[in-house]
Amino acid sequence: MAETGEMSESRDLGAAKPVRGVLLGAPGSGKGTQAARLSKRLGIPAISTGEMLREAVAAGSDLGRRVEEILISGALVDDEAMAEVVRNRLVEADAANGFLLDGYPRNQEQAEKLAEILGELGTQLDLVWFVDVPKEELMRRALARQREDDKEEVIEKRLELYRKVTDPLVGYYGDLGLIRHVDGNQPIERVTEAMMAALEIDCPADSQAEPQPGAEPGVKSAEAVEV
Ligand code: AMP
Repeated sequence: MAETGEMSESRDLGAAKPVRGVLLGAPGSGKGTQAARLSKRLGIPAISTGEMLREAVAAGSDLGRRVEEILISGALVDDEAMAEVVRNRLVEADAANGFLLDGYPRNQEQAEKLAEILGELGTQLDLVWFVDVPKEELMRRALARQREDDKEEVIEKRLELYRKVTDPLVGYYGDLGLIRHVDGNQPIERVTEAMMAALEIDCPADSQAEPQPGAEPGVKSAEAVEV
């Protein structure tokens, strides 16, 4: 996925920001791009389960062989296999001080499993960004992408699955007080600003490049960061 990265390197953060976050959003919402941008800004790893599975397929590992057909069809890999993938990744040293999960959890069972895994690690989620993009824009973006599993009927299937099983997680995490709504239908930089504002962090690099009226420092509430 494209990473423009024009200002990502320009900021020395010193220590990593210990955020444990999930990016929630439909296929084509740009959450993968945002995860990569936030990863650089915050100094914590972006963990994309889709990317990990595609790498497993490319490497021809056992997992890769098991999930190859599923990825091509646009269906979901079983929860048990995904829990193993995510657990193995979250215990790695670089995730000890925070992470950005992209593509997991995908349904309520996975969300509950994630809480369990994090509980075993003695931690929990800090927040869940919901990158909100209108349906028509999602379809337009998805068709413009160039992945092997991005054929139109596969895109439809992934969007349908998203609506059925993943979208309800917005309510699930909302009830837990973790959700932060972000308008994903705006330029990449502004989406990043809105996500950073949700963390109550000032971002001088971006705001110098382009004034961001909705992303002043010191934003205190989830409502206030809906830009
Ligand atoms: P993504 O790059 O997140 O769109 O994921 C690409 C594909 O990987 C999906 O269409 C699924 O087949 C599989 N996948 C990724 N994450 C998960 C997950 N959390 N649960 C089940 N399948 C997943």
